[in-house]
This record gives sequence, structure tokens and C-alpha cells, in this order.
Amino acid sequence: MPNNLTTPHSYRGKLIVVEGIDGSGKTTQLGLLAKWLIAAGHRVFLTEWNSSDLVKAATKLGKKKNALTPMTFSLLHATDFADRLLYRIIPPLKAGMIVLADRYAYTAFTRDVARGVDREWVRELYGFAVKPDVRLYFRVPIEMSLERLLARRMKLKFYEAGMDMGWSTNAIESFRLFQSKVLEEYDRVTDEFAMSVIDGARSISEQQHIVRDLVSRAIAEPQPQEAIS
Ligand code: ADP
Repeated sequence: MPNNLTTPHSYRGKLIVVEGIDGSGKTTQLGLLAKWLIAAGHRVFLTEWNSSDLVKAATKLGKKKNALTPMTFSLLHATDFADRLLYRIIPPLKAGMIVLADRYAYTAFTRDVARGVDREWVRELYGFAVKPDVRLYFRVPIEMSLERLLARRMKLKFYEAGMDMGWSTNAIESFRLFQSKVLEEYDRVTDEFAMSVIDGARSISEQQHIVRDLVSRAIAEPQPQEAIS
């Protein structure tokens, strides 16, 4: 089966995605980028992982009861993603907008695999996803992400800390164990899908400078032939 994720798309718009573990600073960078693009007169559409209504209720219920196996969890997220792609990502891309996605299929490739799902299986599951024009990965060490998250809201979220895996009853220890596996998978994913790696330990403005440079270049690239005609 052809894999869309590795084939450039032919829509008029541009798809920019940010990835990284929680607390890596990706939402901060995407927010600043959105403001900058809008100020420059671009039409921008923002979308987040897990934001569609379709399976939100089912995921919520399953989470509450801790009743989902990693594979079922993965399938639910893929269904949610398909809905988001079809209704929130492709239409603005067709309309020539710049779509900014806070997390994309690569999140599944790291989280689901860290939970024990087969690497190839999850990649095939998301084979329908549109290849983003800019793929940014914000790399930070676990301790830095923990420090930022704890400073912000004191309590780690159950799934973010991988508490469902039962590796540790201590949320911070569980976070370290789970997110270390996620980081390892991100290292594979960044190589495999040629992502631009940004050092998330640098200042917000230094990172934003790099982000804007990469995005400007992608915007300046000519539209594919198919999209112009
Ligand atoms: P993510 O979306 O990856 O979870 P956020 O953008 O929400 O991360 O940032 C997490 C926290 O870290 C926020 O409180 C944010 O203000 C702070 N933060 C983001 N980038 C930096 C940075 N470069 N240096 C210091 N703190 C940062």
C-alpha cells in the first residue's frame, strides 16, 4: 500500500507540525509562529492532537476505567486522527491555508510504541496521513520537561506519566520511565521522517528564530503543478 506520509502532497496550502515530549515547548513555539504568520497576512488554521469530538467520549470513558489495551488505545487515536485529517486539516490545505498542527501521527509512533505496540503496525495504521511540509521536533532532556511541567501545574497527568503501564506508583518516577522510552522512539522517528531537530533547551526567542526561518523557506517553495492548474 502506498504510504502518503513519505510522499509530498499536492494541496495549495502548507502543513507544519510540531512534535516533542510534554513540556518541550512546542505549544509555545507554535503559538508565536501563528501570531507571526497572521501578522504577515497569511491565513492560518490551528489544530491539536485529540481535538475532534468523534471518539473523545469513548477515549474518556476508557481512560476513566483504565480499560483500554495499548492497541485499542492506538486504534482509537488513529480514528480520531483520521477524523481530524479529513475535516480539519485537508479542507484548509485545499483552500491554500497554512495549517499548524500541535502533534501529528509521529506522536502515535512514539507513545504507542513506548506502550508496547508494534512499530511497523502503527506506521501502517497511519499510512493515510498527509506528509507535512515542515516537521519540527523539539528535543529536551526528561529532567527539563519535568521541571517545566511541575513548575506550571504541580501534578502530572495520568497518561502523560504513563501511569497506565503500572511501572511505578510514583508519578514522577513513572514519567521518567515512560517518557524516556518516548524520547528513544522520537530519535528513531526524527531520522526516519527527516524531521528538523530544534534544541528545546535554548531560549524561546532563539528557537522561534529557527522556526520562522524553516517555515519561511517552506512557504517560499513553489506550489506543486497539480495544485496550480
Ligand atoms: P509543550 O506544548 O511541549 O507541552 P509548552 O509550550 O506548553 O510545552 O511549555 C511548557 C512550559 O515550559 C510552559 O510553562 C512554557 O512557558 C515553558 N517554556 C517553553 N519553552 C521554554 C523555553 N525555551 N525555556 C524555558 N521555559 C519554556
